[in-house]
Amino acid sequence: MELDTDNAFAELGLAPDATEREVKAAWRRLASQWHPDRNESAGAVARMQRINQAFEEIRRAGFSGRPGGNADTPATPDGDAPDGAEADQAAAASGAAGTQRQGRTLHRKLRMTLEQAASGCIKVLRGKVTDSCAVCRGAGHQVLGGNCARCGGSGAVPRRSFFGWPTGVAECEACLGGGIARQACAACAGAGKMAPRGYKINVRIPPGVRNGDLLHVDGRRVSGEGPGADFEIRIEVARHAFFELDDDGTIRCEMPIDGFAWMANRQVKVPTVTGLQTLQLSRDRLSYRLEGMGFPVQCRGQRADQVVTLVPIFPQQLSTDQQILLDQLSATTLGAGEEALDDRLRAWSRGLRGWKAAMGPDCS
Ligand SMILES: [Zn+2]
Ligand SMILES: [Zn+2]
Repeated sequence: MELDTDNAFAELGLAPDATEREVKAAWRRLASQWHPDRNESAGAVARMQRINQAFEEIRRAGFSGRPGGNADTPATPDGDAPDGAEADQAAAASGAAGTQRQGRTLHRKLRMTLEQAASGCIKVLRGKVTDSCAVCRGAGHQVLGGNCARCGGSGAVPRRSFFGWPTGVAECEACLGGGIARQACAACAGAGKMAPRGYKINVRIPPGVRNGDLLHVDGRRVSGEGPGADFEIRIEVARHAFFELDDDGTIRCEMPIDGFAWMANRQVKVPTVTGLQTLQLSRDRLSYRLEGMGFPVQCRGQRADQVVTLVPIFPQQLSTDQQILLDQLSATTLGAGEEALDDRLRAWSRGLRGWKAAMGPDCS
């Protein structure tokens, strides 16, 4: 887009006979209003570019020979506005980097359930990325060569007090002290970076990732609207309500069970990371090992075992029917004689008899 000088004045909201001082004041006012670091509206970058081009055009025309026609390039506003909590701060391309992608790694976190971590899953990752400007390679300006007009190439300008008295020298803002003429980059409006753009990628999480694992994703292999960068993704596995994961992949689960169902050798459903499994209870055991139903021993590896530990729960309140049935059940063991007893009970009865005998006849 080429501006003629009259249009350039109009772009800055000035009459064609505006002085250099008025041009610079208008540029500063508009730049502080439209610089993309301060103005998040969609048209800010384009507007800032037009403002800069207008200024450059008027400067190129030499301020039409007006008083004080010392054409120098104003410094662009500084300041690095954060892109918001959701946005990634992409490392700016270093001076040696040949392409945008090289050396850029976005750091993200992905949270998932233990079940998702065990089986693997696909997660959608959204964010924003800010590309550094390809034209000026992130510098925000282009070096024109020759002496800086503002400082005459010295890199320093007189510092003045509030009342205008010289009080020393300061670094020249126009050339950042380098003494070489430069101008704000038009492509990025001097920001050194482009407007943030959104990305959305699908990340395939392999089975067996652990909390705290770092997953490296090659930016060239992502599906979706990629940001042109690699990812380093920290895995966060949420704590589970009833599964505990051991380092060796064993999953432990403590499970309350109806005490009567346990005594009756019932079949029950137990949860695993891949769904419910049928477990045949046995009243002589409280601990059960489900082979191959645990967490992968290592990423993409075979699954370890799950250990289910039962906690039999007997009702504290019994219905009348239950009390009658329990009385009958108890009578069957009491009336069966000592031979029918469990070894442990028989040993206890024998010990008790011996103890009574040793206590003598006074013990009744
Ligand atoms: Zn640029
Ligand atoms: Zn200078």
